[in-house]
Amino acid sequence: MSVSATSAMPDARGHFGPYGGRFVPETLMHPLQQLEDEYFKAQADPQFQQELQYYLREFCGRPTPLYYAERLTRELGGAKIYLKREDLLHTGAHKINNAMGQILLARRMGKTRIIAETGAGQHGVATATVSAMFGLKCVIYMGEVDCARQALNVYRMKMLGAEIVSVTAGQKTLKEAVNEAMRDWVTNVRSTHYILGTAYGAHPYPVMVRNFQRIIGDEARRQILEKEQRLPDLLVACVGGGSNAIGLFYPFLEDASVKMLGVEAGGEGIKPEKHAARFQGGSLGVLQGTQSYILQDENGQIQSTHSVSAGLDYAAVGPEHAWLRDLQRVDYTYATDEQALQAFIRLARLEGIIPALESSHAVAAAMERAPSMGRDQLMIINLSGRGDKDVAQVATRVAL
Ligand SMILES: *Cc1c(COP(=O)(O)O)cnc(C)c1O
Repeated sequence: MSVSATSAMPDARGHFGPYGGRFVPETLMHPLQQLEDEYFKAQADPQFQQELQYYLREFCGRPTPLYYAERLTRELGGAKIYLKREDLLHTGAHKINNAMGQILLARRMGKTRIIAETGAGQHGVATATVSAMFGLKCVIYMGEVDCARQALNVYRMKMLGAEIVSVTAGQKTLKEAVNEAMRDWVTNVRSTHYILGTAYGAHPYPVMVRNFQRIIGDEARRQILEKEQRLPDLLVACVGGGSNAIGLFYPFLEDASVKMLGVEAGGEGIKPEKHAARFQGGSLGVLQGTQSYILQDENGQIQSTHSVSAGLDYAAVGPEHAWLRDLQRVDYTYATDEQALQAFIRLARLEGIIPALESSHAVAAAMERAPSMGRDQLMIINLSGRGDKDVAQVATRVAL
């Protein structure tokens, strides 16, 4: 497969090579087809694009800076490091890029009610925020365990007028919250749009979310060319479902000189149920609407996962990443909880920037790679979010 074909994906049925597709109950086939039709119409409509650009700029705070991390660069003594500052966006992470795109689509489709799933609460907060801004009813599904772990975000969503449904099935975390959101969607599809939060799920979600997030890479490409008059050598991003990573990577896929590194959650190490690194021991399977790499046992039962960062703690990875890994276009590695916590503190002290624990995984891997790169080489780390939400949790783990 040529590199240029890489960025032309997925095919018309949402397949990225052997991954992706649409694996849902009969009742969801029609709504997904309708969503696909409406999305591609909107994408091609200059008026929709203009409206999206307007709100991304005026409400979300785009473009975000591409910041030269001078002290971090000096300390590591290798590649020149830039940070793409998605942490500076309204609500504190890249999630709002996608939430804004999808709510504009929902309005265009005449929907009056918004639902979403959330794990850490970041996508829930972004969705509650855009729902409040446009005056749409909003219901957020969240596992009971996550509600307890992320009580501040639960309150934040309630302040924004959202109804929170605490899900008590199974492990009571993200996977169960997605199941409940899908059940709601089947029942209320006439009035309701489901804003899925990452580059995952049944077609058209992975391609749609990627396209709403590609603004990260489009901006970064323009900015690095302005600052350095050349393309970067390495892009680094953390990978949960994969939306911030694919958002940064996608506009560079055809630039063969640009290497890319996706960083998964290594948790307490690569032992069953102690991590969420799907490319370390995962295998082909179907989960929640799509075919991809999944952490499952020999009977196809989904395994429990663990990460210090709730946003990376999911048993499956977006189908486009699975495919880019097969093509060896993107390398995938992992950072452990411990490495992420160290990177969290180190970036705070060196740059005065407290990164999200998710983003800290990318920072940890970048810190490992940078010293072996030349001083004339350029690296961009996607700082997908800010760490305010994680401070209390880090305080229980790191004594200062
Ligand atoms: C949700 C989240 C992630 C993980 O999701 P992706 O879809 O893989 O980007 C990463 N960073 C932050 C700050 C998040 O909130």
